[in-house]
Amino acid sequence: MGMKTMEKLKALPLQYNLPDYEDVAATHDWAETEKAFSWFETGQVNMAYEAIDRHTETIRKNKVALYYNDGKRKEAYSFNEMKKLTNKAANVLKSATSLEKGDRLFIFMPRSPELYFTLLGALKMGVIVGPLFEAFMEGAVYDRLSDSDAKVLVTTPELLERVPLAKLPNLQHVFLVGTDIDETTQILDFNKRLKEAPSQFDIEWVDREDGMILHYTSGSTGAPKGVLHVHNAMLQQYQSTQWVLDLREDDIYWCTADPGWVTGTSYGIFGPWLNGITMLIVGGRFSPQAWYQAIEDYSVTVWYSAPTAFRMLMGAGSGVLENYDLSSLRHVLSVGEPLNPEVIRWGYEELGHRIHDTWWMTETGAHMICNYPSMDIKPGSMGKPLPGVHAAIVDDAGEEVPPFTMGNLAVRRGWPAMMRQIWGNPERYESYFLKGEWYVSGDSAYLDDEGYFWFQGRVDDVIMTAGERVGPFEVESRLLEHPDIIEAGVIGKPDPVRGEIIKAFVSLREGIEPSDALIDNIRDFVKKGLSAHAAPREIEFKEKLPKTRSGKIMRRVLKAWELDLPTGDLSTMED
Ligand code: ATP
Ligand code: MG
Repeated sequence: MGMKTMEKLKALPLQYNLPDYEDVAATHDWAETEKAFSWFETGQVNMAYEAIDRHTETIRKNKVALYYNDGKRKEAYSFNEMKKLTNKAANVLKSATSLEKGDRLFIFMPRSPELYFTLLGALKMGVIVGPLFEAFMEGAVYDRLSDSDAKVLVTTPELLERVPLAKLPNLQHVFLVGTDIDETTQILDFNKRLKEAPSQFDIEWVDREDGMILHYTSGSTGAPKGVLHVHNAMLQQYQSTQWVLDLREDDIYWCTADPGWVTGTSYGIFGPWLNGITMLIVGGRFSPQAWYQAIEDYSVTVWYSAPTAFRMLMGAGSGVLENYDLSSLRHVLSVGEPLNPEVIRWGYEELGHRIHDTWWMTETGAHMICNYPSMDIKPGSMGKPLPGVHAAIVDDAGEEVPPFTMGNLAVRRGWPAMMRQIWGNPERYESYFLKGEWYVSGDSAYLDDEGYFWFQGRVDDVIMTAGERVGPFEVESRLLEHPDIIEAGVIGKPDPVRGEIIKAFVSLREGIEPSDALIDNIRDFVKKGLSAHAAPREIEFKEKLPKTRSGKIMRRVLKAWELDLPTGDLSTMED
């Protein structure tokens, strides 16, 4: 590690929002967190009010809430301006539609300030919002709008062609965010109406248990599920933003996730704004240069991203990184996939930061198992449960298993941000719970003797080879340490003798050519670093691995291709 890195690590502030994890974990009561909200006094609940309007009654009134930059538009909005613009958006929706509390409104567009005005404006009406990732194709859009019986859609003229209007009879209105829109009874001009709309709006007060946001899962393991979250999720989103993101008043925070995924709302809208924090939103396409430039230009202090992005930055090399001044960064976090030790090493040595892993999922609505700034990190471990959350490893009967035993990663039912419904599918909802008590995540992990959780893989992805259980994650992580490999996906392939054999799909660094010698070399490399039984028997080179749009490797697709089976739902797959 270079001197500069050492100095930076030493200079890290010692006052954390969660100075003593063990102490708070032993005593935290969510009833304490409730006192932070205005509804604790007034009884009137609405996420949008807590995230935006209440700050305008404080010293934060003129503080920047949102910096937006996509290379073309560079804008900044204070909390006061956000209040007016979200009010205007609510008025646009209210005056032109029959939307009522609990109805579903979908947003299907690239990141832009209007996306945020619309989302929060709709929440001010008590409407349930379904955000969709801009890259979805017609089938994916249709599935979600029809499954949830959407009444209104907000999109752009370019994306409208991917909305099969004729097949969606219950979709009453479509707002287009663009210029010179030809209005019809169904198609309405959002921007023109936004300009004309009044900036005062009477918020629809809701119950804490009323629906707020409907997120479809990433589709890594099968068809996406519609996960409904309620306004009460704010308790955990607010609190975890303090403890895990460690955000403070003066921070400039950047969450790289799209609001089409849960990270892009829970920690790309709600958590930070509930805490009155200044956020940066970067639009446009990913490039290492643009990302580093954004950190430098905005002096980003806290940065929340994903392993897939870190791997791409790592792949771009330190030659690129060296051109930017990233010294504003104080805290870096990751979510979405296991954080390979190789990526942690890159963070530590090249970026000068310990990347903090956080584990949670669409269904949990907020952080569950995390690495806190004040806690010692064990590279490769997801960390410890959020105070107020009880996690455990249970067997298939719902009994807790001893440390170092691989099992189902489970959480005791009833954390504040827990999903309240799988849309239209109560049986599927109940099927998540074992003995009515444990929420079973579908992930496989073990617990060590110091209370740290270690991710092993999706339960469905765990490989049984010659009587040994092997998690794909450890094999993939070892593969990534190989100097020629940039990405790896590992599956179990049925085998008459061994039950399953390990097959690895790898993509190589630019300029490296596949060869038989390289295959032997890679196999040897895993054997030496991990174990003989974890070394892949088969290795196949791929230019790109199949991934979800949220950046997760789709092992089920690799497996289906390998075994010539139907690939199932591909609506969330990258092109
Ligand atoms: P689907 O449920 O449709 O198959 P998905 O599970 O990928 O898709 P998400 O809810 O977006 O949809 O992702 C949650 C999953 O992501 C977790 O179950 C876990 O497998 C993985 N994940 C998230 N964070 C981490 C992490 N820090 N370490 C390891 N895995 C993680
Ligand atoms: Mg899932």
